[in-house]
Amino acid sequence: PFEVLVIGGGPAGSSAAIYAARKGISTGIAAERFGGQVADTMGIENLISVPYTEGPKLVAAMEQHVKEYDVDIMNLQRAEKLIPAARKGGYHEVRLANGASLKSRTLVLSTGARWRQMGVPGEEEYRNKGVAYCPHCDGPLFKGKRVAVIGGGNSGVEAAIDLAGIVGHVTLIEFGAAMRADDVLQKKLRSLKNVEIITSGQTTEITGESGKVNGLQYTDRTTGESHHISLEGVFVQIGLVPNTEWLKGDIELSQHGEIIVDERGETSIPGVFAAGDATTVPYKQIVISMGEGSKAALSAFDFLIRNSVD
Ligand code: FAD
Repeated sequence: PFEVLVIGGGPAGSSAAIYAARKGISTGIAAERFGGQVADTMGIENLISVPYTEGPKLVAAMEQHVKEYDVDIMNLQRAEKLIPAARKGGYHEVRLANGASLKSRTLVLSTGARWRQMGVPGEEEYRNKGVAYCPHCDGPLFKGKRVAVIGGGNSGVEAAIDLAGIVGHVTLIEFGAAMRADDVLQKKLRSLKNVEIITSGQTTEITGESGKVNGLQYTDRTTGESHHISLEGVFVQIGLVPNTEWLKGDIELSQHGEIIVDERGETSIPGVFAAGDATTVPYKQIVISMGEGSKAALSAFDFLIRNSVD
């Protein structure tokens, strides 16, 4: 059994494992795929003190850093069920898809999230070649260019407002007859001169040329007509889905499925902590996940020294 068991091997989980191991307590990390979303990322320009790196390079560095410590790394292991300790300070159990079961006095849940995709032709093909999901990350790559934002909810409208200050022109495409974002955001968006809003628009294809996005095709759902827009980038903002399906019913989740944590990263179960994109902490970013992972591990250590019952 472990003192700290981390579930998830992205920036949050890696940081949690390092912080826990540095306290000299037995630490394990189980991850479906070590590296998490970072493994799917091209350029990273906002990890402070590292002006530029690339996803696979950062993943290798995170793994090497974890390996500096006595951490039991269990890669390619998917957690399927959490069984909370019967009493405070007792052992929690995590069942894995391969049938094995791990026990630990504290847990750090850091299973991250995934961007909801449109599922249209060209989206996968041009991912990172014009198709983007994170305006904070990739906005500056489209400086002065034309982009579309898909989705008129809060995240889509926030993204469009953010991007309008950086790129040349933004077309926001909302599937429904009206945007769903808060009024104040919609008002702000409408006040911007380089933004066009299309409602009742269904994106049907991302088009490209020479390995890069050159436009998108959408259907006007009121007339049934198909239109093509020439542009260089498409930001898909139709939802970020936390990887917390396996926790439903066992731990308190928000209405969006995020693990509810307090300011110390503790969840609704004593001794179970959570960090990163899977939680209610706002702004899903690498540097934030790393900070939250460290915080959750320190909270787990604090819990252990106060609740060591045997
Ligand atoms: P994740 O990175 O999602 O890691 C989750 C981990 O949990 C993975 O190891 C996964 O395999 C594992 N896991 C999931 N479910 C289970 C399970 N049931 N059992 C076991 N393991 C499980 N942020 C930036 O700051 N800068 C950028 O430039 C940037 N660019 C991005 C580009 C792209 C294309 C994407 C998708 C994201 C980008 N982000 C960027 C966001 C950033 O990657 C995330 O905020 C960050 O990775 C979140 O870290 P995390 O550890 O919480 O989760």
